[in-house]
Amino acid sequence: MIPGSFEYHRPASIKEAVGLLGKLGDEGRALAGGHSLIPMMKLRLAKPAHLVDLAGIADLKGVRADGNDVVIGAMTTQHELGGSDLLTGKIPLLRETSLQIADPQVRYVGTLGGNVANGDPGNDMPAVMLCLGATYHVAGKSGERRIAARDFYQGAYFTALEPGDVLTAVRIPVPPAGHGYAYEKLKRKIGDYATAAAAVVLTMSGGKVASCSIGLTNVAETPLWAQEAGKIITGSALDAATIKKAVAAAEAITAPASDARGPAQYRTKMAGVMLARALARAKARARG
Ligand SMILES: Cc1cc2nc3c(=O)[nH]c(=O)nc-3n(C[C@H](O)[C@H](O)[C@H](O)COP(=O)(O)OP(=O)(O)OC[C@H]3O[C@@H](n4cnc5c(N)ncnc54)[C@H](O)[C@@H]3O)c2cc1C
Repeated sequence: MIPGSFEYHRPASIKEAVGLLGKLGDEGRALAGGHSLIPMMKLRLAKPAHLVDLAGIADLKGVRADGNDVVIGAMTTQHELGGSDLLTGKIPLLRETSLQIADPQVRYVGTLGGNVANGDPGNDMPAVMLCLGATYHVAGKSGERRIAARDFYQGAYFTALEPGDVLTAVRIPVPPAGHGYAYEKLKRKIGDYATAAAAVVLTMSGGKVASCSIGLTNVAETPLWAQEAGKIITGSALDAATIKKAVAAAEAITAPASDARGPAQYRTKMAGVMLARALARAKARARG
């Protein structure tokens, strides 16, 4: 359980980190909280010759409002997400989700940037980012670019990041005041990754759903945006027949692996159960 040897770098700016990672190519990896990367290195599933620690870069930290968006620095920890008054007021789904990640020890060091850049379908934040319509800010060899979270995930551990890229921030449009939200996660025990989980953000108007967005965790090689299920819910009063139809549409896009968390069919059904629960809780929280 000891990782292979590596050289440690601690740049003080985004520019320096991008320069270093660009020069190191496949030999280098960004290090954030290390709570996914270091275990992978201990198992020798990752063997970077160089680690570029992002912890000394002040520009990667903090949460700020920018017009109707909130911008969260990549090195903001999962613990800080839960403790931010700005986020709790404007996007409470983030606090609800962060509190369901691992345990306090992991959340104190694990970062939002690491959670969404990692590409592990078991990570909780990616599906929440699809649900919220987030955009990732990326700095790389050819400058800065923005990538929609919904276009970012390509396969297990494959993302739109290229060698040398640093994810610098996550930009999230603030959902309308009075929106309903929920993250429902089935796990075998406290601190476990999801057997299946569902994120919902919806708005209500006159007793009907005016908009609905749904993300699913750990039921495919990538997080899923259940667009069709969201469309089915929109315009309805969230009656039982509509929920059943939406759940079936969400289940239809899942393709989970059979593993220690259960057979594929069970995990698909649990995604449906989590979605039905998240819809009910989001409705109960929504105004309008
Ligand atoms: C016991 C345990 C339980 C856990 N349970 C859960 C859980 O229930 N849900 C969950 O979501 N996660 C869980 N995790 C994972 C945890 O949330 C990690 O912290 C997270 O996945 C990665 O964040 P990190 O900051 O630790 O990133 P690191 O481990 O440092 O990095 C992860 C990957 O992302 C890359 N990376 C990191 N930051 C950047 C960046 N800014 N730009 C470009 N690339 C970057 C790294 O190069 C690496 O490939 C658990 C971890 C442990 C140890």
